[in-house]
Amino acid sequence: MRGLNEDLDVAIVGLGPAGASAAHAAAQAGARVAGFDRRKEAGFPVQCAEFVPAMMGMDTGPVMAALVQPIDAMESFVEFTQDRRSPDFRGKMVDRAAFDRELVERARSTGASMQFDCELAGVESDGTLLSADGTKLHARVVIGADGPRSNIGKAIGCINTELVETRQATVPLLRPQRSTDIYLSARIPGGYAWLFPKGDVANVGLGVDARWRRRLKPELDSLIGMLVEEGKIGRKRLAHTGGAIPVGGSVGVAGRLGETQVLLAGDAAGLANPITGAGIPAACISGRLAGEAAVRLARGEREALSEFYDEIEDLFGASLRRAVSRREELLARLRAKALDADGLRRGWIAYPQYWNEDGAPPPSEQRKNIDDLLEA
Ligand SMILES: Cc1cc2nc3c(=O)[nH]c(=O)nc-3n(C[C@H](O)[C@H](O)[C@H](O)COP(=O)(O)OP(=O)(O)OC[C@H]3O[C@@H](n4cnc5c(N)ncnc54)[C@H](O)[C@@H]3O)c2cc1C
Repeated sequence: MRGLNEDLDVAIVGLGPAGASAAHAAAQAGARVAGFDRRKEAGFPVQCAEFVPAMMGMDTGPVMAALVQPIDAMESFVEFTQDRRSPDFRGKMVDRAAFDRELVERARSTGASMQFDCELAGVESDGTLLSADGTKLHARVVIGADGPRSNIGKAIGCINTELVETRQATVPLLRPQRSTDIYLSARIPGGYAWLFPKGDVANVGLGVDARWRRRLKPELDSLIGMLVEEGKIGRKRLAHTGGAIPVGGSVGVAGRLGETQVLLAGDAAGLANPITGAGIPAACISGRLAGEAAVRLARGEREALSEFYDEIEDLFGASLRRAVSRREELLARLRAKALDADGLRRGWIAYPQYWNEDGAPPPSEQRKNIDDLLEA
């Protein structure tokens, strides 16, 4: 962590959408901010299907800077048969590497120090961060934006335990399209498969509950074979990627290590949607809120902590809880060998039965944890 050892207000681990949004917000508010990431460069390698759903509160500037094509609709397939067209699922396909780079450059332009090729190796009990090269970094507030297997989250006991694993290929797209295609099947446990168009190529992939990860390769091969037969895509694979998505819902957004206040954002906080896997908007929004809260906390405004928690809960709490409960239903039906077409529809956002008012469990213990932190 060369040159990062000055007296810092905010240190950020992980410079994906959550960390870069946090760095931008904190530096813009006048804080001394340093962020670092183990990747050699921003956004690379891409581990994403690159669809950004339209969402209230999402800052659209960086999305437009990385725009590849608009999406107007969603086509849902049940057991590989077309079942529903939803014109109201709009969004944008982006070049994810360009998107992440844009967020990092925007943070740099406000004065944040953003360093790559720098890995977090450990966290001391007082919140001091240790890098792999042996340097130490201390800040008043640490933001953990280090993704689904967050080490900062682990240090404060907030750990994503439920994960979906994914596998994706980029392939030639033979006819342009403006819908995302979603494949729901009992062969894809705890997840779904997708074809997302990106100009003259498409990202074709699937995610399954981590316990069934051995299905990823054969099921992707089978899906690609089917789409080639249908004349939708070319056979040549231009790139492969994959990665984990947290699907257990929020794990909490705050903790403390000695005198150091710790906040979590994005996947580290478990804010990706457990049904769709979409986490870019939540990462950007929660990152910005964490950055703003961190500046206030560094100045001694302790109420910023509960306001941060309340904003995250208001924005994401209900939809995360609904998605978690629908996912649990899907898995229970699967285990009982009773996952039929109706069960699959109830577990997907394009169907009215997904939105029925039942089943979502009450808010968790997390509010109590925030109150405990405030009293400590
Ligand atoms: C295959 C796949 C497809 C997806 N498709 C979509 C999609 O189409 N739309 C959507 O909205 N979401 C999608 N997601 C989810 C989305 O990518 C994430 O929700 C989003 O990237 C979360 O942003 P983040 O900043 O919280 O975490 P990340 O983007 O994961 O960033 C975390 C950063 O922390 C760094 N880091 C981790 N550990 C350390 C360490 N020890 N030291 C230093 N740095 C560290 C990593 O290098 C990384 O850059 C997909 C995910 C996967 C895996």
